[in-house]
Amino acid sequence: MTTFYITTPIYYVNDVPHLGTAYTTIAADVLARYHRAQGHDTWFLTGTDEHGQKIEQTAKEQNKTPLDLANTVVNRFETTWKNLNITHNDFIRTTQDRHKTVVADIWNRLVDAGDIYLGEYKGSYCIRCESFYTEGQLIDKKLCPIHNSEISRISESSYFFRLSKYQDRLLEHFNNYPDFVQPESYKNEIISFIKTGLRDLSISRTSFQWGITTPTDDKHVIYVWLDALTNYISALGGPGTDAYKQFWPAQIHLIGKDILRFHAVYWPCFLFATNLPLPKTILTHGWWNVRGKKISKSLPATQVDPNHIVSELSSDALRYFLLREIPLGLDGDFSYETLIDRYNADLANDLGNLLQRTLSMTVKFCDGSVPLPSNHLPSISLDEEINQTTKHFDNNAPSLALETIWAIIRKTNRYIDSNKPWTLAKDPTNQDTVNHIMSTALNTLYYVAQLIAPVLPDTSITIQNKLGIEHPTVSWPQTPLSSHAIESNNTIECGSPLFPRIDQTRKEDLIAIWSNESK
Ligand SMILES: [Zn+2]
Repeated sequence: MTTFYITTPIYYVNDVPHLGTAYTTIAADVLARYHRAQGHDTWFLTGTDEHGQKIEQTAKEQNKTPLDLANTVVNRFETTWKNLNITHNDFIRTTQDRHKTVVADIWNRLVDAGDIYLGEYKGSYCIRCESFYTEGQLIDKKLCPIHNSEISRISESSYFFRLSKYQDRLLEHFNNYPDFVQPESYKNEIISFIKTGLRDLSISRTSFQWGITTPTDDKHVIYVWLDALTNYISALGGPGTDAYKQFWPAQIHLIGKDILRFHAVYWPCFLFATNLPLPKTILTHGWWNVRGKKISKSLPATQVDPNHIVSELSSDALRYFLLREIPLGLDGDFSYETLIDRYNADLANDLGNLLQRTLSMTVKFCDGSVPLPSNHLPSISLDEEINQTTKHFDNNAPSLALETIWAIIRKTNRYIDSNKPWTLAKDPTNQDTVNHIMSTALNTLYYVAQLIAPVLPDTSITIQNKLGIEHPTVSWPQTPLSSHAIESNNTIECGSPLFPRIDQTRKEDLIAIWSNESK
């Protein structure tokens, strides 16, 4: 059986869930749901990164223990993922014993490989990134290239990992596995970085406590990224366990572009040194800006709380917007106006309207039950679009998949417009033709419900219920399609519209509510 293991980064508990973390997690959820619909044995992992100097500092400022701070933030993540309909199979926390044991095991394997030595670290460190920088990487020789904030100069005893030893092997891996980093632009960027020369990496610290102590020297705490990256295998129980054998190597580590270096350089080299297989693909996405500004804790206007959008619109609406608006990999710009405009155009008009008119005409012209199609009348062929949609999901391109599904929806709206069942129904001798048109539209809606399920899971269930399917299921459509996907005589249910249109007054109200909440 095909297995599919997908991970999100584990989120740093120094921050709360925001639009960026919601985006990553939704995108991973969409791919996990797609592979489950395909019948693949799927495992979806997310979690939290709870160690490090920054957490220790923040906890002190808030008069909490680091673990209390982590517990509070973990609750917020768990609630948000529930609100966004995230179907992760596991949630790993780096403060859990199951994780710490495997990190210690990995450390020992690095020692056994002869790839760790004691030295002195002198240089620049960004506490917010938990990352070391060389002079050349800094902005104006003093600012973090990611945070644009002052870095710390540190000088302390540290264990080093022989990263430089693996430079050639890593480049060879990129050569042998062209899909190792997707999309292409990020791959080229990271290859250029590797070619500038890899330097050995400091992987322990002595100036703070909040972390996993190295098993070989209790004065040192393991570098937070070595600790964090190990989550992808510690969550499976570590090398040798059944779950590890079943799911490792992961098919996809989904990450934001700011942490590409850790995933595409450090992590593979740690795995080389410990003799473990590398993940198949590091799938890298861009950043969401909010009204042109980078999301930041210090800019309240960029703090979009996904929970507030869900409570006014629906989680499906937010999931759809984030995945449809930009291709995975590119940066996007978020505004409440574009969110509502896309909701109105795609969800209320195209999809909502197709569903509502099809159902209400079935009630009016076909006694409210699914009619029989006719063999000698033209239907809509969907095979081509469905094959395209499958290809796009297989290529990790959900925005293109949605574009193709919406082409089916628009095509079906045009099919109804041009056949005018409301005119035909005036003459009872046309009943077979009317039945055929409505049957075709209802069948198409059934397939649309299947295709949108990874992105719009609630909507998929609602549509299936309206089509008289008592126990909705999701299973990926296989071409050639059947024209009898739903039972004839199913009683359909019209009810209220799926995505009620948001008029100008309501739009202004919503924007006011959300803007106030983020202050
Ligand atoms: Zn930084």
